[in-house]
Amino acid sequence: MARVAIVTGGTRGIGAAISKELKAAGFEVAANYAGNDEAAAKFSEETGIKTYKWSVADYDACVNGIKLVEDDLGPVDVLVNNAGITRDAMFHRMRPDQWNDVINTNLNGMFNMTHPVYPGMRERKWGRIINISSVNGQKGQAGQTNYSASKAGDIGFTRALAQECARVGVTVNAICPGYIATEMVRAIDEKVLNERIIPQIPVGRLGEPEEVARCVLFLASEDAGFITGATISANGGQFFS
Ligand code: NDP
Repeated sequence: MARVAIVTGGTRGIGAAISKELKAAGFEVAANYAGNDEAAAKFSEETGIKTYKWSVADYDACVNGIKLVEDDLGPVDVLVNNAGITRDAMFHRMRPDQWNDVINTNLNGMFNMTHPVYPGMRERKWGRIINISSVNGQKGQAGQTNYSASKAGDIGFTRALAQECARVGVTVNAICPGYIATEMVRAIDEKVLNERIIPQIPVGRLGEPEEVARCVLFLASEDAGFITGATISANGGQFFS
C-alpha cells in the first residue's frame, strides 16, 4: 500500500515541489496550506493532489486537519514540516507581532504538526519526519533574528527527537536550503538579490525547489533508514556547517 505523506505549506514554492516529487514516487500526498485558496486550487487542478487548509500555528487546527487527512488517505507515514514565513526587520525595529508570528509558524508549527502524528508512527514502528530549516538558522542573518531563531530551533528539535525515536523506526532529519527561487526569495529587491546575495553563492545561482524536493524524497525512502538527526545543507556552497 502507498505510504501517506503530509507536506505543510505544500501548495506553493518548495512545498509544492516536494508534494509533486513524493506523488511521482508513489506516495499518497496531502498538501496543507494556510490561506491562499487560489494558489491551492490551481495546484490541485494541475497535480491532482488533495489540498487541506489550516494554520500550522494552531494546535487544535492541526489535530483536526490531520484527522481529516487520515480519514481520507490513511495513517500518516511521512510528515514534511515545510510551512514557513518571514517577517524581516532589524532587531531594534522588530515588533513583538513580527517575532511571534514567525516563531508560532516556523517553530511552534513543527511541534503542533509532529505531536499529533508521532504516536501513530511509534505504534506502527515506521515514520519519517523531515523538517525544512534554513541556512539562516545555521549561520544567523541580520534582519532575521526571529527567522534565524525559529530555524535554529527546528534543528535542535530535530536532533532531540531523533534520539528519542531512533529505536522505534522513526527518523527525524532537517534540510537547510540556501536561497531557493521561490516567491519568498523573489520578494527580495532584485538589486539586493543580484548584487549582494547571488555573489555569496559559489555555484553562482539560486537553487531550484526541485533540488530540495529530491533531498526530501531520499530522506523519506527506505534507503535513508540509517540517517537520523542529520542536517543536510542544500545551499550551493554558501555555508558549511
Ligand atoms: P513560500 O512563501 O513560497 O510558500 C510558503 C507555503 O507555506 C505556502 O504554501 C503557504 O500557504 C504555507 N504557509 C505559510 N504559513 C502557514 C501556516 N501558518 N500554516 C500552513 N501553511 C502555511 O515559501 P518557500 O517555498 O520559499 O519556503 C518553504 C520553506 O522553506 C519555509 O519553511 C522556508 O522558511 C524554507 N526556506 C526557504 C528558502 C528559500 O530560499 N525560499 C531558503 C531556506 C529555507 P499559503 O499558500 O496559503 O500562503
